[in-house]
Amino acid sequence: MIDQPYAYRHRQLAEPDWRRLPGWAEVTAQQWASAQWQRAHCVKNIRQLRQVIGDGLSESFCADLERDQAERATMSMLVPPQMINTMVPELAPSDPGFTDALYADPVRRYMIPVFSDRRADWPSHPEASRDSLHEAEMWAVEGLTHRYPTKVLAELLPTCPQYCGHCTRMDLVGNPTPIIDKHKFETSRDDRLAAMLEYLRANPGVRDVVVSGGDVANLPWPRLEAFIAQLLDIENIRDIRLATKALMGLPQYWLTDEVRAGMERLAATARQRDVSIAIHTHVNSAQSVTPLVADAAKAMLATGIRDVRNQGVLLRGTNDKTEQILDLCFALLDDAKIMPYYFYMCDMIPNSEHWRLSLAEAQLLQHDIMGYLPGFATPRFICDVPYVGKRWVHQMARYDEELGISYWTKNYRTGVEHDDALALEREYEYYDPIHLLPESGQAFWREQVVAAKAVRAATQAVGATS
Ligand code: SF4
Repeated sequence: MIDQPYAYRHRQLAEPDWRRLPGWAEVTAQQWASAQWQRAHCVKNIRQLRQVIGDGLSESFCADLERDQAERATMSMLVPPQMINTMVPELAPSDPGFTDALYADPVRRYMIPVFSDRRADWPSHPEASRDSLHEAEMWAVEGLTHRYPTKVLAELLPTCPQYCGHCTRMDLVGNPTPIIDKHKFETSRDDRLAAMLEYLRANPGVRDVVVSGGDVANLPWPRLEAFIAQLLDIENIRDIRLATKALMGLPQYWLTDEVRAGMERLAATARQRDVSIAIHTHVNSAQSVTPLVADAAKAMLATGIRDVRNQGVLLRGTNDKTEQILDLCFALLDDAKIMPYYFYMCDMIPNSEHWRLSLAEAQLLQHDIMGYLPGFATPRFICDVPYVGKRWVHQMARYDEELGISYWTKNYRTGVEHDDALALEREYEYYDPIHLLPESGQAFWREQVVAAKAVRAATQAVGATS
């Protein structure tokens, strides 16, 4: 009999032993379980990473990381112990092969990017930009993106307990890096949140609010609970989704008594009012799904909320293989009761080309995972097209694979197109990584870059003489 392309087997979740890491050799189970301890021991710089990993962290890796932080990183470093511990889970730093395994590790690849990970030829696509989804342009009030007719995204705060190297909101989220200043909210948090609620009360066509950031786990719980309670008071709001990667990165937080009791109160009110509250988390790799993550997800489900769903991001070197996606989805579904929901293509932010997949690769992955998971838990692969929104990867109107340009249409006006009569007739573009194109396509883009430079130089010359 010929084997299936993917062989399912139920894998028991395991918490890697943090005591294999010299810096945490003495850390007790009680300390590890404490959200406060986890937050206080996040790794924020190379010195702290050295303290945790010890001599097993090679000088060459540190130099590679240092160069990335100085020249390429769009996010500053912030990695909770829980996430560090899931990197190279089978080896201690003193074991032979640790450095190679660290370089190859799927979680390290996106949480602690190094210079040599990135493309030297095309670190960025010429069409890449900060705020590549134009969310700030679509703010109805500061921090509230109204892109779809019935749904809004509320960015409550610009921080997270962990910073991912590929963060789509690199424009706003996290601390500045040597190459990226961050956008700052102009209004105070309380004024911003009040204005969001006022907008939602005044717009009964909105029924669905994604409460995000950043990560809602960084908002003091009483403030988050008060905001959600106020959302529950608005008649037209029927779906509330809380976005928190920390369910995986800092599950200890979601297991605290304060948060569990608070979620129970919110879930009870939501049930009374026929509103659905769900948690949306962000897990990219099967090794991140540990017993603690499963406990946190199940604790949230036990409060009575509707669901816990996963929105991963497709990243080369992390989850670009069929087996990696299916292993992750089964780990989420089998023991953590987290519903695989979406995998987004990595957005077109600066310095992300080494992570990004082409549309054709994403389509193939979607094809290859079909039929293994239950239909209700088969994730959709999504291209978030600038000025359009989420589209399933097979939905493009046409696709020029030579130039790596896909063309997309839409059936609603976003927040910036209410006066645009042609918005629904236009085609909107999305771009594949250039290094994957045939030579003729790469030559096209080299010419575009040269032409753009010439235009910039001519404009500057005119500016200097006028
Ligand atoms: S958790 Fe989400 S918002 Fe925060 S850095 Fe990661 S991707 Fe960005």
